[in-house]
Amino acid sequence: MLSAQATDVSVNVATRPLFEHVRTPRQMVDFGEDALRDAIKTIGLFNTKAKNVIALSQALIDRSGGKVPRTRDELQSLPGVGRKTANVVLNTAFGEEVFAVDTHVFRVCNRTGLAPGKNVDEVEAKLDKIVPQPFRRDAHHWLILHGRYICKARLPECWRCPVIDLCRYNPKTPAPGAKPSAARTATPRSSAARTAKGRTASTRSANHSRARPTRPR
Ligand code: SF4
Repeated sequence: MLSAQATDVSVNVATRPLFEHVRTPRQMVDFGEDALRDAIKTIGLFNTKAKNVIALSQALIDRSGGKVPRTRDELQSLPGVGRKTANVVLNTAFGEEVFAVDTHVFRVCNRTGLAPGKNVDEVEAKLDKIVPQPFRRDAHHWLILHGRYICKARLPECWRCPVIDLCRYNPKTPAPGAKPSAARTATPRSSAARTAKGRTASTRSANHSRARPTRPR
């Protein structure tokens, strides 16, 4: 809930001291919206997030005695909880094989051609269809990390990418100081990559650095 439109670093800086003394929904409600707003003011959208966290905490107390529910419907009925947040909770807290598609996962899946889609729901559905065991539980974590540290939004670092030969994105980013043609000549080896010309328009649009995932209305 706190990470939307905020960096992980900013969230960690704000939440580390907060979670030292606020650990339950009851404690969060007692902490109060004003104090929470002040505690997370370095995070984007902190006003709305503080309001949602307090409302969420109160709802957890009222509905389930402070326990986090483990069904998608119950989770998504809570204030400020959408499908992605519900998937994160289902996966990391309850071990379910679901795929939380954030901006990093959306970008990587479209650029590479792994699971292209016009919106996050399409990408999630494709990941669910194609990701095999034993990778289903942790796939979305790896995709997030790949997008955050290598396949970056503004400039993918293709020259040091371990899956460059499987990726459909073109042109590949050359190493700093290298001639552009060096990285562009990387040859796909997978059958999926060999069908790169069949990319969809949505895939191509997601190649642009500012591409943002959306949910269908
Ligand atoms: S080769 Fe480049 S575009 Fe493809 S996954 Fe790696 S970093 Fe991303």
